[in-house]
Amino acid sequence: MSNGPAGGAALVVAGLTAAPGERATASIELDLGTASVSVPLVLINGASDGPRVGVTAGIHGAEYVSIAALRRVAMELDPAEVRGSIVAVLTANPAAFAARSIYVNPLDGRNLNRTLPGDPEGSPSQRLAAWLEANVIAGSDLFIDMHCGDMNEALISFTGLELTGDAAVDALSRKVADAYGLDYLVIGPLPGSTNTAAATRGIASVLGEVGGRGQWPESDVSAHAAGLRRALVAAGVLPTSAATGPAGRASKLLTKEAWLRSDVGGYWHPSVDVGDEVAAGARLGEVRDAFGSVLLSVEAPIGGVVLFLVTSLAMNPGDPLLAIGAE
Ligand SMILES: [Zn+2]
Repeated sequence: MSNGPAGGAALVVAGLTAAPGERATASIELDLGTASVSVPLVLINGASDGPRVGVTAGIHGAEYVSIAALRRVAMELDPAEVRGSIVAVLTANPAAFAARSIYVNPLDGRNLNRTLPGDPEGSPSQRLAAWLEANVIAGSDLFIDMHCGDMNEALISFTGLELTGDAAVDALSRKVADAYGLDYLVIGPLPGSTNTAAATRGIASVLGEVGGRGQWPESDVSAHAAGLRRALVAAGVLPTSAATGPAGRASKLLTKEAWLRSDVGGYWHPSVDVGDEVAAGARLGEVRDAFGSVLLSVEAPIGGVVLFLVTSLAMNPGDPLLAIGAE
Protein backbone atom coordinates (compact mmCIF):
# COMPACT_ATOMS: atom_id res chain seq x y z
CA MET A 1 0.00 0.00 0.00
CA SER A 2 3.00 2.26 -0.05
CA ASN A 3 3.41 5.28 -2.24
CA GLY A 4 6.35 6.40 -0.16
CA PRO A 5 9.96 5.74 -0.96
CA ALA A 6 11.19 2.19 -0.58
CA GLY A 7 13.19 1.68 2.60
CA GLY A 8 16.53 3.34 2.09
CA ALA A 9 15.34 5.93 -0.45
CA ALA A 10 15.27 9.68 0.06
CA LEU A 11 11.90 11.42 0.44
CA VAL A 12 11.63 14.56 -1.68
CA VAL A 13 8.66 16.94 -1.44
CA ALA A 14 8.53 20.50 -2.79
CA GLY A 15 12.31 20.55 -3.15
CA LEU A 16 12.93 19.44 0.45
CA THR A 17 14.78 16.14 0.94
CA ALA A 18 14.76 13.82 3.97
CA ALA A 19 17.23 10.94 4.01
CA PRO A 20 16.05 7.60 5.42
CA GLY A 21 15.69 7.78 9.20
CA GLU A 22 15.76 11.58 9.20
CA ARG A 23 13.50 14.57 9.72
CA ALA A 24 13.86 17.56 7.42
CA THR A 25 12.25 20.97 7.98
CA ALA A 26 12.03 24.04 5.76
CA SER A 27 9.88 27.08 5.12
CA ILE A 28 8.81 26.71 1.50
CA GLU A 29 8.37 29.98 -0.38
CA LEU A 30 5.25 29.81 -2.54
CA ASP A 31 4.43 32.35 -5.22
CA LEU A 32 0.65 32.79 -5.04
CA GLY A 33 0.48 35.35 -7.85
CA THR A 34 -0.31 38.58 -6.02
CA ALA A 35 1.76 37.64 -2.96
CA SER A 36 4.10 34.97 -1.72
CA VAL A 37 3.86 32.99 1.51
CA SER A 38 6.26 30.87 3.53
CA VAL A 39 4.81 27.43 4.32
CA PRO A 40 6.43 25.43 7.17
CA LEU A 41 6.97 21.86 5.95
CA VAL A 42 8.24 18.83 7.90
CA LEU A 43 9.25 15.56 6.26
CA ILE A 44 9.83 12.48 8.39
CA ASN A 45 11.34 9.68 6.37
CA GLY A 46 11.24 6.39 8.24
CA ALA A 47 14.12 3.98 8.21
CA SER A 48 11.86 1.21 6.88
CA ASP A 49 9.24 0.97 4.15
CA GLY A 50 5.60 1.72 4.87
CA PRO A 51 2.69 4.01 4.03
CA ARG A 52 2.98 7.71 3.31
CA VAL A 53 0.76 9.96 5.41
CA GLY A 54 0.10 13.61 4.55
CA VAL A 55 -1.04 15.85 7.44
CA THR A 56 -2.10 19.49 7.41
CA ALA A 57 -3.06 22.01 10.10
CA GLY A 58 -3.93 25.67 9.83
CA ILE A 59 -5.95 25.42 6.62
CA HIS A 60 -7.99 27.90 8.66
CA GLY A 61 -5.40 30.28 10.07
CA ALA A 62 -6.95 30.97 13.49
CA GLU A 63 -7.48 27.32 14.45
CA TYR A 64 -4.66 27.22 16.97
CA VAL A 65 -5.19 23.87 18.72
CA SER A 66 -4.62 21.99 15.47
CA ILE A 67 -1.54 24.07 14.58
CA ALA A 68 0.03 23.62 18.03
CA ALA A 69 -0.76 19.88 18.11
CA LEU A 70 0.65 19.06 14.67
CA ARG A 71 3.85 21.01 15.32
CA ARG A 72 4.31 19.12 18.58
CA VAL A 73 3.85 15.67 17.03
CA ALA A 74 5.84 16.39 13.87
CA MET A 75 8.83 17.74 15.81
CA GLU A 76 8.73 15.17 18.64
CA LEU A 77 8.42 11.95 16.64
CA ASP A 78 11.56 9.87 16.42
CA PRO A 79 12.18 9.15 12.70
CA ALA A 80 13.82 5.86 13.75
CA GLU A 81 10.42 4.52 14.87
CA VAL A 82 8.57 5.63 11.72
CA ARG A 83 7.64 3.05 9.07
CA GLY A 84 7.06 4.80 5.76
CA SER A 85 6.87 8.57 5.83
CA ILE A 86 5.00 11.61 7.10
CA VAL A 87 4.60 14.85 5.14
CA ALA A 88 3.34 17.56 7.51
CA VAL A 89 2.35 21.13 6.64
CA LEU A 90 2.32 22.81 10.03
CA THR A 91 0.50 26.02 9.09
CA ALA A 92 -1.07 25.54 5.68
CA ASN A 93 -2.49 29.05 5.27
CA PRO A 94 0.24 31.41 6.52
CA ALA A 95 -1.41 34.67 5.40
CA ALA A 96 -4.60 33.73 7.27
CA PHE A 97 -2.54 32.84 10.35
CA ALA A 98 -0.67 36.16 10.28
CA ALA A 99 -3.88 38.13 9.84
CA ARG A 100 -5.71 36.13 12.58
CA SER A 101 -8.34 35.70 9.90
CA ILE A 102 -11.60 33.84 10.50
CA TYR A 103 -12.69 31.38 7.76
CA VAL A 104 -10.90 33.01 4.81
CA ASN A 105 -7.51 33.74 3.31
CA PRO A 106 -7.09 37.55 3.43
CA LEU A 107 -5.21 37.47 0.12
CA ASP A 108 -8.45 36.78 -1.80
CA GLY A 109 -11.28 36.36 0.70
CA ARG A 110 -11.69 32.65 -0.11
CA ASN A 111 -12.17 29.77 2.31
CA LEU A 112 -9.21 27.50 1.48
CA ASN A 113 -11.19 24.46 2.63
CA ARG A 114 -13.81 25.12 -0.06
CA THR A 115 -11.21 25.71 -2.80
CA LEU A 116 -9.68 22.27 -3.42
CA PRO A 117 -8.49 20.99 -5.83
CA GLY A 118 -7.52 24.55 -6.71
CA ASP A 119 -5.85 26.03 -9.76
CA PRO A 120 -2.10 26.72 -10.14
CA GLU A 121 -2.94 29.75 -12.33
CA GLY A 122 -5.80 31.05 -10.16
CA SER A 123 -6.22 33.30 -7.12
CA PRO A 124 -3.87 32.96 -4.11
CA SER A 125 -6.13 30.42 -2.35
CA GLN A 126 -6.60 28.47 -5.57
CA ARG A 127 -2.83 28.32 -6.07
CA LEU A 128 -2.26 27.30 -2.46
CA ALA A 129 -4.95 24.62 -2.78
CA ALA A 130 -3.32 23.26 -5.93
CA TRP A 131 0.07 23.14 -4.18
CA LEU A 132 -1.40 21.22 -1.23
CA GLU A 133 -3.21 18.86 -3.59
CA ALA A 134 -0.05 18.12 -5.60
CA ASN A 135 2.49 17.93 -2.76
CA VAL A 136 0.64 16.68 0.30
CA ILE A 137 -2.55 14.89 -0.77
CA ALA A 138 -1.54 13.25 -4.06
CA GLY A 139 0.84 10.36 -3.48
CA SER A 140 -0.34 9.74 0.09
CA ASP A 141 -1.83 6.47 1.33
CA LEU A 142 -3.65 8.43 4.03
CA PHE A 143 -4.39 12.13 4.46
CA ILE A 144 -5.26 13.75 7.80
CA ASP A 145 -6.50 17.35 8.08
CA MET A 146 -6.42 18.85 11.58
CA HIS A 147 -8.87 21.60 12.46
CA CYS A 148 -10.67 23.06 15.47
CA GLY A 149 -13.37 25.63 15.99
CA ASP A 150 -12.38 28.93 14.41
CA MET A 151 -11.64 32.11 16.43
CA ASN A 152 -15.39 32.63 16.82
CA GLU A 153 -16.52 29.01 17.19
CA ALA A 154 -16.86 26.56 20.07
CA LEU A 155 -17.10 22.87 19.24
CA ILE A 156 -17.31 19.44 20.76
CA SER A 157 -14.53 17.22 19.47
CA PHE A 158 -15.22 15.10 16.41
CA THR A 159 -13.60 13.32 13.52
CA GLY A 160 -14.92 13.22 9.99
CA LEU A 161 -14.39 10.96 7.03
CA GLU A 162 -15.67 10.59 3.52
CA LEU A 163 -16.45 7.33 1.80
CA THR A 164 -14.77 6.59 -1.54
CA GLY A 165 -16.63 3.40 -2.42
CA ASP A 166 -13.41 1.40 -2.24
CA ALA A 167 -13.96 -0.97 0.70
CA ALA A 168 -10.29 -1.23 1.67
CA VAL A 169 -9.74 2.55 1.52
CA ASP A 170 -12.93 3.25 3.47
CA ALA A 171 -12.01 0.65 6.09
CA LEU A 172 -8.65 2.39 6.60
CA SER A 173 -10.37 5.79 7.01
CA ARG A 174 -12.73 4.29 9.58
CA LYS A 175 -9.94 2.53 11.45
CA VAL A 176 -7.91 5.76 11.63
CA ALA A 177 -10.93 7.87 12.67
CA ASP A 178 -11.85 5.37 15.38
CA ALA A 179 -8.27 5.43 16.62
CA TYR A 180 -8.29 9.26 16.76
CA GLY A 181 -10.88 8.66 19.47
CA LEU A 182 -12.82 11.95 19.66
CA ASP A 183 -16.40 12.40 20.94
CA TYR A 184 -18.23 12.02 17.61
CA LEU A 185 -17.59 10.71 14.10
CA VAL A 186 -19.33 12.42 11.18
CA ILE A 187 -19.44 10.72 7.77
CA GLY A 188 -20.12 12.82 4.70
CA PRO A 189 -18.62 14.98 1.95
CA LEU A 190 -17.70 18.66 2.14
CA PRO A 191 -17.20 19.88 -1.43
CA GLY A 192 -13.99 21.84 -1.97
CA SER A 193 -12.40 20.50 1.21
CA THR A 194 -9.06 18.75 1.51
CA ASN A 195 -10.79 15.57 2.66
CA THR A 196 -13.10 15.54 -0.36
CA ALA A 197 -10.10 16.15 -2.63
CA ALA A 198 -8.37 13.14 -1.10
CA ALA A 199 -11.47 10.96 -1.38
CA THR A 200 -11.86 11.98 -5.03
CA ARG A 201 -8.38 10.56 -5.59
CA GLY A 202 -9.36 7.37 -3.80
CA ILE A 203 -7.14 8.22 -0.82
CA ALA A 204 -8.22 7.43 2.74
CA SER A 205 -8.73 10.66 4.66
CA VAL A 206 -9.75 11.81 8.10
CA LEU A 207 -10.66 15.19 9.61
CA GLY A 208 -9.89 15.87 13.27
CA GLU A 209 -11.53 18.73 15.24
CA VAL A 210 -10.64 19.62 18.86
CA GLY A 211 -11.12 22.96 20.66
CA GLY A 212 -11.65 26.47 19.28
CA ARG A 213 -12.39 30.11 20.17
CA GLY A 214 -8.86 31.27 19.40
CA GLN A 215 -7.48 29.46 22.45
CA TRP A 216 -5.01 26.60 22.73
CA PRO A 217 -5.21 25.19 26.24
CA GLU A 218 -2.86 22.31 26.98
CA SER A 219 -5.79 19.94 27.53
CA ASP A 220 -6.99 20.49 23.94
CA VAL A 221 -3.53 20.47 22.34
CA SER A 222 -2.57 17.24 24.09
CA ALA A 223 -5.91 15.62 23.15
CA HIS A 224 -5.45 16.55 19.46
CA ALA A 225 -1.79 15.45 19.49
CA ALA A 226 -2.61 12.15 21.18
CA GLY A 227 -5.41 11.53 18.67
CA LEU A 228 -3.00 12.10 15.78
CA ARG A 229 -0.46 9.73 17.34
CA ARG A 230 -3.12 7.00 17.71
CA ALA A 231 -4.21 7.63 14.11
CA LEU A 232 -0.62 7.17 12.91
CA VAL A 233 -0.36 3.94 14.90
CA ALA A 234 -3.60 2.70 13.32
CA ALA A 235 -2.21 3.56 9.87
CA GLY A 236 0.86 1.42 10.56
CA VAL A 237 3.30 4.34 10.49
CA LEU A 238 4.13 4.25 14.21
CA PRO A 239 4.53 1.40 16.72
CA THR A 240 1.91 1.02 19.45
CA SER A 241 4.44 2.38 21.96
CA ALA A 242 4.23 5.79 20.23
CA ALA A 243 0.56 6.24 21.22
CA THR A 244 1.35 8.50 24.16
CA GLY A 245 -0.82 11.17 25.78
CA PRO A 246 -4.36 11.23 27.13
CA ALA A 247 -6.56 8.27 26.16
CA GLY A 248 -9.16 8.47 23.41
CA ARG A 249 -12.74 7.27 23.57
CA ALA A 250 -15.26 5.37 21.47
CA SER A 251 -16.72 7.96 19.08
CA LYS A 252 -20.50 8.15 18.66
CA LEU A 253 -21.35 7.81 14.97
CA LEU A 254 -23.38 10.62 13.38
CA THR A 255 -24.79 9.98 9.92
CA LYS A 256 -26.69 13.23 9.43
CA GLU A 257 -25.50 16.80 9.75
CA ALA A 258 -27.42 20.07 9.48
CA TRP A 259 -25.44 23.30 9.06
CA LEU A 260 -27.54 26.34 9.92
CA ARG A 261 -26.65 29.71 8.46
CA SER A 262 -28.04 33.17 9.07
CA ASP A 263 -29.67 34.93 6.15
CA VAL A 264 -29.46 38.25 7.99
CA GLY A 265 -26.71 40.24 9.64
CA GLY A 266 -27.06 41.36 13.24
CA TYR A 267 -26.43 40.21 16.80
CA TRP A 268 -26.37 36.46 17.51
CA HIS A 269 -27.87 35.25 20.79
CA PRO A 270 -27.61 31.45 20.95
CA SER A 271 -29.71 29.68 23.57
CA VAL A 272 -27.82 26.37 23.40
CA ASP A 273 -24.22 25.31 23.97
CA VAL A 274 -21.94 22.88 22.16
CA GLY A 275 -22.62 19.30 23.16
CA ASP A 276 -26.27 20.01 24.00
CA GLU A 277 -28.81 17.48 22.75
CA VAL A 278 -31.67 19.29 21.02
CA ALA A 279 -35.01 18.04 19.69
CA ALA A 280 -36.31 18.82 16.21
CA GLY A 281 -38.08 22.18 16.37
CA ALA A 282 -36.24 23.30 19.51
CA ARG A 283 -35.38 26.97 19.74
CA LEU A 284 -31.63 27.43 19.21
CA GLY A 285 -31.27 31.19 19.38
CA GLU A 286 -32.08 34.51 17.76
CA VAL A 287 -30.41 37.05 15.52
CA ARG A 288 -31.43 40.50 16.72
CA ASP A 289 -30.97 44.00 15.37
CA ALA A 290 -28.89 46.70 17.03
CA PHE A 291 -31.77 47.63 19.34
CA GLY A 292 -32.56 44.06 20.38
CA SER A 293 -35.57 43.33 18.17
CA VAL A 294 -35.66 39.78 16.82
CA LEU A 295 -34.79 39.52 13.12
CA LEU A 296 -34.49 35.73 12.93
CA SER A 297 -35.59 32.98 15.28
CA VAL A 298 -33.58 29.82 14.73
CA GLU A 299 -35.10 26.38 15.26
CA ALA A 300 -33.54 22.92 14.96
CA PRO A 301 -34.42 21.28 11.62
CA ILE A 302 -33.41 17.89 13.04
CA GLY A 303 -32.86 16.54 16.53
CA GLY A 304 -29.28 15.79 17.54
CA VAL A 305 -26.19 17.17 19.21
CA VAL A 306 -24.83 20.71 18.74
CA LEU A 307 -21.44 20.01 17.14
CA PHE A 308 -20.25 23.58 16.78
CA LEU A 309 -21.60 26.98 17.66
CA VAL A 310 -20.61 30.49 16.61
CA THR A 311 -19.84 32.38 19.81
CA SER A 312 -19.39 35.91 18.49
CA LEU A 313 -22.17 38.45 19.01
CA ALA A 314 -21.56 39.74 15.48
CA MET A 315 -23.35 37.77 12.74
CA ASN A 316 -23.09 38.35 9.01
CA PRO A 317 -25.52 37.27 6.28
CA GLY A 318 -24.59 33.81 5.01
CA ASP A 319 -22.35 32.96 7.98
CA PRO A 320 -22.73 29.70 9.91
CA LEU A 321 -24.68 29.80 13.19
CA LEU A 322 -24.17 26.23 14.34
CA ALA A 323 -24.30 22.63 13.20
CA ILE A 324 -26.33 19.71 14.51
CA GLY A 325 -25.25 16.11 14.03
CA ALA A 326 -27.67 13.21 14.35
CA GLU A 327 -27.27 9.42 14.60
ZN1 LIG B 1 -11.22 24.61 10.07
